[in-house]
Amino acid sequence: MLTHWETLEHQAMQKQWSYAQFLLALCEIEVERRWSQRLKRALNEAQFPSAKTLSTFDWSHLDGFNPAPLMQLATDSGWLKRAENCLIFGPSGVGKTHLACAVARAIVELGLRAKFFAATTLVQTLQQAKRQLLLPNTLKKLDRYDLLIIDDLGYVKKSEAETSVLFELIAHRYERKSLLVTANQPFSQWNAIFADDMMTVAAVDRLVHHALIVELQADSYRKRSADKRSQTRDTSQNTHSEPITQNPDLIHTDNCRDN
Ligand code: ADP
Ligand code: MG
Repeated sequence: MLTHWETLEHQAMQKQWSYAQFLLALCEIEVERRWSQRLKRALNEAQFPSAKTLSTFDWSHLDGFNPAPLMQLATDSGWLKRAENCLIFGPSGVGKTHLACAVARAIVELGLRAKFFAATTLVQTLQQAKRQLLLPNTLKKLDRYDLLIIDDLGYVKKSEAETSVLFELIAHRYERKSLLVTANQPFSQWNAIFADDMMTVAAVDRLVHHALIVELQADSYRKRSADKRSQTRDTSQNTHSEPITQNPDLIHTDNCRDN
């Protein structure tokens, strides 16, 4: 307000604003500034791996998919107030991480707080907290986020580490705060994630009780983009008849990296 009041006063004199109009204009600038600072902070703490949005998602790639339920989650934060969850299933490269981040970004733009975790990193963080007897504190701290993304839950394997901490997080947030989970594997394979069958059932039960479950079925978008690029390269090779060495393995590696 200090920065802008003189310029605005000048404008107010010229345009013969009332005192109320002048004050309103000054407050609007301040509100706008605070809002954009809040958004910047919230996006920073969310740590989305990329700036993907719903507007850059090509729905036509998911043949016959109805985007309405996901769009609803992105535009109406009611589900977060009701502590509902969203589970996105599908094979690799089909857009799970993209959609999860895009929905969460929209939520942040609505004024709520979200945080992204790769499932394996989250498990390590929670395990460390548990070892230091700080798990309850850590879970409580995560309550500040209206939405937690747990990306690629299927990459967590019970053989690699003690995954009961993941169950503790799910149980802690149940009917209190929302989770957005992405996974390659269907529920039937989740007993590879949790310590035993009973824990798997209990985790799935809590996750799905109030949840939107989305299944994405398509070819990998990464692979399709890579194929398109290599086709374009082939065409341009033919047009210019230039000898370019092509290594399909390189193209594949470049584009099949998982997020
Ligand atoms: P997944 O998490 O299912 O393995 P990603 O969300 O990481 O897949 O998607 C892989 C890449 O392809 C990302 O760069 C993503 O933005 C892009 N992508 C996937 N599906 C689409 C789509 N339908 N429209 C636009 N980009 C997409
Ligand atoms: Mg992913």
